[in-house]
Amino acid sequence: MAPPPAGLLSLNTATTRGRWGLAQAIEGCARRGIRGISPWRDLLHAMGVANAARAIRAHDLTVTGLCRGGMFPARDARTRKANIADNLRAIEEAHALGAQCLVLVVGGLPAGSKDIAGARAQVKEGIAAILPQARAAGVPLAIEPLHPMYAADRACVNTLAQALDLCEALEPRKPGATGAKPCALGVAVDVYHVWWDPQLEAGIRRAGKRRLLAYHICDWLVPTTDLLLDRGMMGDGVIDLKRIRSWMTRAGYRGFHEVEIFSAANWWKRDPDEVLATCKARHRWMS
Ligand code: ZN
Repeated sequence: MAPPPAGLLSLNTATTRGRWGLAQAIEGCARRGIRGISPWRDLLHAMGVANAARAIRAHDLTVTGLCRGGMFPARDARTRKANIADNLRAIEEAHALGAQCLVLVVGGLPAGSKDIAGARAQVKEGIAAILPQARAAGVPLAIEPLHPMYAADRACVNTLAQALDLCEALEPRKPGATGAKPCALGVAVDVYHVWWDPQLEAGIRRAGKRRLLAYHICDWLVPTTDLLLDRGMMGDGVIDLKRIRSWMTRAGYRGFHEVEIFSAANWWKRDPDEVLATCKARHRWMS
């Protein structure tokens, strides 16, 4: 399979966390010829939304997503309402940046709860509550299914099929509807979370071009020493990135490939310029 076009690489700022603020990440991408960026909101707030939007425009970067909204479930109605308000602010920020989507990490169980079905119902209600504003702002919502090991504390949506069921329940597609515009509600496919799923190819096909809103890449290391902060660089682990990319392409996805590597013991310790150079090389040959 031919290497992916270098122009499709995007940097998720989680990859240079702790070393670079958003302004440095924007400049780093520009310097290294990386054309896409996906900021996390804490870095965005530190830089200021207007400043960030200006710098991103000045360097002509594409914002491939804003990380992140979601975290809907809570023990009481007041906190759930506050969570929804925070998501509405995230939609405004994504709109100000011209982001291609707002990534939703939907949240896990409220503290003390054992009711995962209840948490999933709260997620559905939360997305339903913010979908009209997202649609009005032209900011598609990308549900990111997370590996089941995070079901309790980060996301109780754990497979692509489950995410797509939610999409179809909340934003049904008219049969036979086509068109270039993405759906207002779709999915972010992060290989770290879904690579193991025997239904992954079928899920990508089912999502199709209009619901495939983002594609996050990294690798799964063996052994993995930390379930959150030990992601691998493309090519260093067991994920068949070329095969998954071929499924994405076949399904019609033409968007960016966003590198998102949480790596406290390795990549976060290195010079971010070196990290970006490695991302570029590995994206070309391993992805
Ligand atoms: Zn991701």
